[in-house]
Amino acid sequence: MASGRKPMRITTPKWTPGDGAMRMVALEVLIHGPMSRSEVARRLDLSPGSLTRLSTPLLESGLLVDVGEQVDRRVGRPVQLLDVVPASRHFIGMKLMAGEVLGVVADLRANVVASAGRTFKDRSPEAVADSIAELVAELRGGRPEITAIGVGIGGLLEEHGFVRSAPFLDWTDVPLGMMIEQRTGIPTVVENDLVAFTEYEHWFGAGRGLDRFAVVTLGAGIGYGLVIHDEIVRNDEFGIGLVGHWPLDPYGPVCSEGHRGCAKAVLTDTAISQAVSQALGRPLTYAAAINLAAGGEAAARRVVDDAGRSLGRLLAAVANLTMPETVVIGGEGVRLAEVAAEAVEAGMRADRDPRIRPVPLTIRSGDNTEWARGAAVVAIQTYVLGRRTI
Ligand SMILES: [Zn+2]
Repeated sequence: MASGRKPMRITTPKWTPGDGAMRMVALEVLIHGPMSRSEVARRLDLSPGSLTRLSTPLLESGLLVDVGEQVDRRVGRPVQLLDVVPASRHFIGMKLMAGEVLGVVADLRANVVASAGRTFKDRSPEAVADSIAELVAELRGGRPEITAIGVGIGGLLEEHGFVRSAPFLDWTDVPLGMMIEQRTGIPTVVENDLVAFTEYEHWFGAGRGLDRFAVVTLGAGIGYGLVIHDEIVRNDEFGIGLVGHWPLDPYGPVCSEGHRGCAKAVLTDTAISQAVSQALGRPLTYAAAINLAAGGEAAARRVVDDAGRSLGRLLAAVANLTMPETVVIGGEGVRLAEVAAEAVEAGMRADRDPRIRPVPLTIRSGDNTEWARGAAVVAIQTYVLGRRTI
């Protein structure tokens, strides 16, 4: 995942993200801080002398600071805590969609401090890169410096921000990262949007500190991300959307590939809105279909409950095969998980051994800024870990 690096322009003195042990110290404090020096040393198996040597440049660069004091029960005296200064660095994260790009400014801990968006009609790579550059200019207004940009995109990507294919924009072979860097002068990383979404949860969200967790996203497509032993599980086919055709309902509708009742055929926004529209004989949006179900309309309720049961079966498969400690559910279609909560629960129960502990679910808001925030995290990771993720 970390091959093919391109040097980044880092202005921080005396520390480059490439220093292996030093970046582990920065990372430990970034994700789990504030914490005492002895705790950092214990977690990373470092001697006090080594930790001092590694943390000094980080403190001098302003990335880490000594904050407050806490009484350490083991030694019975107050100890200084190390922490990052979240506002010391800012990153831009973006979600690129068909006809729209949404951007956020986030600090070093992925707290969103500003957001803005642009719509575009011309989907040519040049025009889209121009829109992105305009959005960057708006977002960085008044801020001293943006360290890096992360762009999340639904598609197949190669290294150095090269988009191999993005069907929603009709793109093939677009060097998007380079085009954005040329226009903005800011190091840019382009990543699959589901990876970006998952990496937020991994470092700063529901998956922080867990050994295993999974992400399922609902919307125009069905996404699945898995983190095991602190690494996202992926290969170069990740952007295809591998869980999209997972079989869920033997009596469900047929997808474009001829599968009956696969995830795409029963769980997507379109699948649900079409089924309710057909039952009621009038065209309905996904939001309208879900609202009708929530209000108890019989046909919408049945469609949404059937989809909810299928979602439960998908979650059961995820839980049975990969044993996550939690599953995060997000994406613009996430209301299915709430409105059909009982059906989801029943679907999960049906496919799991009765002796198991239920897997806690974390349901996100479905707001698009969550995707953009994930892209910012990819930029943060690139900065802190000194890697180009793709
Ligand atoms: Zn299918």
